Amino acid sequence: MRKLKKKFKIYNPKIKEECAVFGISNSNDASTLTALGLHALQHRGQEGCGIVSYDGKKYHSEKRFGLVGDNFNDEKVIKKLPGKYAIGHNRYSTTGGTALRNVQPFFADTNAGGIGVAHNGNLTNAITLRNKLVQDGAIFYTTSDTETIVQLIAKSKRVKTIDKIIDAIFQIQGGYALVMMTQNTLIGVRDPYGIRPLVIGKLKNSYVLASETCAFDIIGAKFVREVENGEIVYIENDELKSVKPFPPRKIRPCVFEYIYFSRPDSILNGKTAYEYRKNFGAQLAKEDKINADLVVPVPDSGNAAALGYAEEKKMKFDLGLIRNHYVGRTFIEPSQQIRSLGVKLKLNPNLSVIKNKKIILVDDSLVRGTTSSKIVKMLYDSGAKEVHVRIASPEIKFPDFYGVDTPTKKELMAANKSIDEICGFIKAKSLKFLSLNGLYLGMGFDKRNDNYPQLTDHHFTGEYPVKIIDELGEDKVTQLSLLSTASNN
Ligand code: AMP
Repeated sequence: MRKLKKKFKIYNPKIKEECAVFGISNSNDASTLTALGLHALQHRGQEGCGIVSYDGKKYHSEKRFGLVGDNFNDEKVIKKLPGKYAIGHNRYSTTGGTALRNVQPFFADTNAGGIGVAHNGNLTNAITLRNKLVQDGAIFYTTSDTETIVQLIAKSKRVKTIDKIIDAIFQIQGGYALVMMTQNTLIGVRDPYGIRPLVIGKLKNSYVLASETCAFDIIGAKFVREVENGEIVYIENDELKSVKPFPPRKIRPCVFEYIYFSRPDSILNGKTAYEYRKNFGAQLAKEDKINADLVVPVPDSGNAAALGYAEEKKMKFDLGLIRNHYVGRTFIEPSQQIRSLGVKLKLNPNLSVIKNKKIILVDDSLVRGTTSSKIVKMLYDSGAKEVHVRIASPEIKFPDFYGVDTPTKKELMAANKSIDEICGFIKAKSLKFLSLNGLYLGMGFDKRNDNYPQLTDHHFTGEYPVKIIDELGEDKVTQLSLLSTASNN
């Protein structure tokens, strides 16, 4: 039983990746531009990366572990990816199950021709669908829910690829952004609530699809618009076409793109993530009476919010922590023990700034409490007089099932402890979170206003827009677990 539990923990498909997708049509440099786009989107996933291209006759695929800059950095590899169409993917590190066959884009031959698929997000009924497909005789090669989508497309009886895709997306549920490619068509799909992001850009005669606009900046493409929620866009003969197969509903993008995930220079609903984050910091300052000597950000995640906080309070802002840029995000480390170490690997106190100071330490979010507790200790050990922790988002009390890697309820500190208890745990002098209304005010929405939208904010409220169909009892993941114990390639 313990063995099974261990397997379950390692291969729990609920703990899923937040990835990056990219695609480009009609460009002589399709693969190079895809590599550059993926490089700009590296923050969304560092475990593996891949590119699939089409040269008019054949598909080509290169998939690697690690960073884009380390893998798609020379002519040799780009030469293996000829053609005017390419799609790419960065995979986020999961808690286990590292295998090259899980690295995307996936490719399949269907009776309508080949199709490459790159997916960001998480399906909430993937296991249920997968079990049905397996019962019907399907053979799965990976442990990724993306393969379920590929199987559903391949299995569809419809003739045209777009219709096959519509068939498939009517069956899947969850948060997803898909970039796909067939012989002469680049396709983008965003889930009915628009939980996961997907944007359209233009570069000369090429259309570009990407998770974030920062991927357009690096290649000189112009931002055209977001793919709408529930919309399928496809580029055929250099023309952008669109289908909206679902009944219209209000968009509910994931609030975590605003708080943490998107790169600060990416545009979300008309403003950069940086502007929103500064506003969150300013809102937090408005809700806070405390005074101190200086505001210190947790680099880099708390930078914008700390600036906004300091500006609002007219307080000194200084860099009390120096970051080693050659270490990835803390969450990359799969075990709690290594994760704790990770904070030390990444940050070092800046002694002259900290000594004898009353410090307001600002970060964007608190998940397990690992980062805050390590940094508070670090600051006190370096001679800080007082450390007051301020978090520029509300308490995360509920796990995510749509593609953001927030852990189970058991591991979420705010799901199990009061603010006072968390403050005691991280050993800060005081602790404050931004209110939910403050978060919306920071995005420019006021609850008293009729236009007050609701984003996908279940992390704080427990209101999940899409039902969680898969019940992950141990029996239900056995099959996945067995699969995952197979060789790592
Ligand atoms: P923790 O140390 O567990 O409390 O996590 C908080 C830190 O992780 C903050 O510095 C955040 O910027 C960062 N963070 C928040 N959400 C995520 C996520 N989904 N993936 C990776 N890092 C995150």
